[in-house]
Amino acid sequence: MRIPLTVTELRYEDLAAKAAGIAAAGGRGHLHTTPPGCRITGDSRRAIVLEATDEGTAYAFCDEAPIEDRARPLAILLHGADSVPGEDEVLEPASSAVNTMADRMRMGKGHFHILTPACLANPNPGRWTIVFEDDDLGILESVTDERPLADIRLVERLIYT
Ligand SMILES: [Zn+2]
Ligand SMILES: [Zn+2]
Repeated sequence: MRIPLTVTELRYEDLAAKAAGIAAAGGRGHLHTTPPGCRITGDSRRAIVLEATDEGTAYAFCDEAPIEDRARPLAILLHGADSVPGEDEVLEPASSAVNTMADRMRMGKGHFHILTPACLANPNPGRWTIVFEDDDLGILESVTDERPLADIRLVERLIYT
């Protein structure tokens, strides 16, 4: 783990082109959206962080304005349309730990990250980690060996919709 990540800052257009290039090449890559003060960036601005897993490097587009609408098409490009559940889709029950984090998020108490086994920001390399950076409680974590699909879908719905 090495957070804050060392990132190369790009313009949005260049970050989007980088994501498209990874997707077109069938490479590995993923996104994080980070609010001001997030541990992943350690930056006072919002950011879309793109990890180019095959390069072992990370890029970021930073802005003061909300970035979720600009992150969404890139997330679909890199993670697949399935990763962002539709409004009408019924979700499996999430774990109690992640449900607790979701309740905190609905109260406006912090933000989520889904960290894959290959994620550079994952404190548990090789495992899946769902992190909630809670404004009052500090860092909440749920760590699993298997991809926690129901938890991920709950979190992505909270992040992207
Ligand atoms: Zn964060
Ligand atoms: Zn990552």
